[in-house]
Amino acid sequence: MLELLFLLLPIAVAYGWYMGHRSAKRDQEDISNKLSRDYVTGVNFLLSNQQEKAVDLFLDMLQKQQSENEIDSGSQFEAELTLGNLFRSRGEVDRALRIHQALDRSPDYSFEQKLLAKQQLAKDFMTVGFYDRAESLYIILVDEPDFAEGALQQLAKIYQKTKEWKKAVNVAQKLAQIAPKENNIELAHYYCEYANELLRNGTGEPKTLLIEALRVSPSCARASMLLASVLIKESDYQSAVKNLENILQQNPAYIGEVLDTLKYCYQQLGHLENFELFLIRASQQVSNSSIDLALADLIEEQDGRASAQAKLYQQLHKNPSMYIFHRFIQFQIDEAETGRGRDSLILLHKMVGERIKQSFSYRCTTCGYHSHKLTWCCPSCRQWESVKPIRGIEN
Ligand SMILES: [Zn+2]
Repeated sequence: MLELLFLLLPIAVAYGWYMGHRSAKRDQEDISNKLSRDYVTGVNFLLSNQQEKAVDLFLDMLQKQQSENEIDSGSQFEAELTLGNLFRSRGEVDRALRIHQALDRSPDYSFEQKLLAKQQLAKDFMTVGFYDRAESLYIILVDEPDFAEGALQQLAKIYQKTKEWKKAVNVAQKLAQIAPKENNIELAHYYCEYANELLRNGTGEPKTLLIEALRVSPSCARASMLLASVLIKESDYQSAVKNLENILQQNPAYIGEVLDTLKYCYQQLGHLENFELFLIRASQQVSNSSIDLALADLIEEQDGRASAQAKLYQQLHKNPSMYIFHRFIQFQIDEAETGRGRDSLILLHKMVGERIKQSFSYRCTTCGYHSHKLTWCCPSCRQWESVKPIRGIEN
């Protein structure tokens, strides 16, 4: 019997340990459950835009954790990280910075946790415009597979803001390796910006960059425009024409921007008739008053005013446009006899002219931003290639 008791002793010890462990675990679970409930309440406050209440609750949770020291360091880390993010979202970036910096410096946390702290710290620096500090953190994160894509995206944003186009190209190339895109508009415009810089300084190989831009984004009209300007400098008008005419397929909204240059190239080649053929083909393909007006100009130069006027009259019926109407009235004034009828036409011409002068020439198709000048990155929504000539999108 005694022997049997001795045999049962290890089982009793094991049972005692198990029960004790279970009870401790239950306490831990109770605390965790309480924390989870508080956390859900906090998130609900956030979702219902009651940020003040959410911050108070999270602060309270954090203080409890610190005073009782009853939860694991992982939960404490997450709570502090979330609290820092909350401060940043409330515009209290200095407090967010202090919390995230403390997490990053603390010896209590693992390497992986510190990477999360660095990521949030970099966001804090981005919010206050300390791009150099954010940059150095993102450069560290680029080497970590779980953080690389996000870090490269942020680095591209930084270099876009600081206009460091060579660096922007480098990070966008790395990003394309991680997340390939069929039409990489951002990278194409970084190439264009960098090529522009080289063209201004008269250094490097802008042509190579522009060819690369067209490889990563075949629809990039800007790359074709810039490439044509390089080719014109080299007196390669035939290749310039090819690039400029290609815009009609790439992004027809921009074709009006290059018609003068295209005409100049055809003049240099001594084949203005081919320019007319292109304009006829383009006017059949798209509705754009810039094409109709260029065609009318050419017809006037070659066949006289009557033919140009007939063409405009025909176009006005097909595509009623303020710009064509303005030119059409000019023709009518030139033909009208002196008198009240002519005076009325002059007044009408002036009024339509004023209306054209006051109206914007470009509009962002994403956010509706209007401008008098073509910008390739919308200053309002920061999207590339979304600002388009109004004549190209509305006729
Ligand atoms: Zn926009």
